[in-house]
Amino acid sequence: MSATATRVLVLNSGSSSVKYQLLDMGAEPDSGSAAGTRLAVGLVERIGEESSRLVHTPLAAGGEKRETEGAIADHDAALKAVAAELAADGLGLDSPELAAIGHRVVHGGLKFTAPTVIDDAVLAEIERLVPVAPLHNPANITGIRTARALRPDLPQVAVFDTAFHTTMPEHAARYAIDVATADAHRIRRYGFHGTSHAYVSRKTAELLGKDPAEVNVIVLHLGNGASASAVAGGRCVDTSMGLTPLEGLVMGTRSGDIDPAVTFHLKRVAGMSTDEIDALLNKKSGLVGLCGDNDMREIRRRIDEGDERARLAFDIYIHRLKKYIGAYSAVLGKVDAVAFTAGVGENAAPVREAAVAGLEEMGLAVDATLNAVRSGEPRLISPDYARVAVAVVPTDEELEIAQQTYALVNA
Ligand code: ADP
Repeated sequence: MSATATRVLVLNSGSSSVKYQLLDMGAEPDSGSAAGTRLAVGLVERIGEESSRLVHTPLAAGGEKRETEGAIADHDAALKAVAAELAADGLGLDSPELAAIGHRVVHGGLKFTAPTVIDDAVLAEIERLVPVAPLHNPANITGIRTARALRPDLPQVAVFDTAFHTTMPEHAARYAIDVATADAHRIRRYGFHGTSHAYVSRKTAELLGKDPAEVNVIVLHLGNGASASAVAGGRCVDTSMGLTPLEGLVMGTRSGDIDPAVTFHLKRVAGMSTDEIDALLNKKSGLVGLCGDNDMREIRRRIDEGDERARLAFDIYIHRLKKYIGAYSAVLGKVDAVAFTAGVGENAAPVREAAVAGLEEMGLAVDATLNAVRSGEPRLISPDYARVAVAVVPTDEELEIAQQTYALVNA
């Protein structure tokens, strides 16, 4: 790597989309935070369809958003189109300033406890994990292969969604099922959204003016997918997602916790196939299953109009959230902060207010005025007297991936 190479391209490859950000890890920070100036951000969606779309914003040049529509056949074509957009801004992938490419990889199993430079053996191991992450790892692998073909000489780093959770103790990670069966099929709780939980728990400590090693934080990552984690002294000790991202909180389209016997019942009594049950619980449940909408803004609008179904969906969502706050308070023993993050957590004041309502005895409270403030900055929303800080901490998974990638290639 050349001494001037300070840029990192972050790639998040989904089955039909690629999200990307190019960051400069050597330039002055853009928000007073540790590092990382965004040079360009973008997204290719509907890959493989006639109506693929590329949206590219060259932030460095103060440039205007550019949108291109038209068939993009596969990930290879998508990445080449992204490379062309970047090149048009003088930020091409062939630039000597590019230090590395950081890939978001959803499942790293137990083997990958930290970001890892990708070689053939690492790629083979990520492939070996496909059976436990059939919806996510294949797309991540395609992204890696494509990027490696484009720049075989460049370090490429995998940053795993599961890595932050590998510190969970066995008693939190194991399901209470037959050990031999569990081990034979690698069935255990892995947890996801780890990059976000790592970033947000660290930022929360920063907000409190403390070292992460000194504080216990409950992180509530509430996006379309949602998960909670208990972080003790900077290390994850429990998290709500399990073998797959289906377990835990009520999500946009996923049920979260459910009696596993519901699945046998659906098979035996309702005659549904395994794939149909999978689709029901992952795509047609959660908020969308309960009320037909998964966007919290729409649900709040309907509640304001007196819609009972939307109200019940909201109440079920909050009830589950409260149960996890209670459970993780018990797991941690002492809680310094509860941090809300992601689309819902950062934006939906009524969710934050309702999740904490009635928990004063546990030291939790929200100040209505502070909670109503809209801001992109980390902030406290609890009153001064509250024993536990309640915070809103915007997540930044791309920055975290870029930081971890840059740190690794410079190690
Ligand atoms: P993901 O990355 O899981 O797709 P995000 O973290 O971007 O999701 O969160 C998306 C969700 O955030 C939306 O489905 C919507 O429910 C919620 N959301 C976004 N903006 C707002 C807002 N202003 N008020 C309430 N909810 C919001």
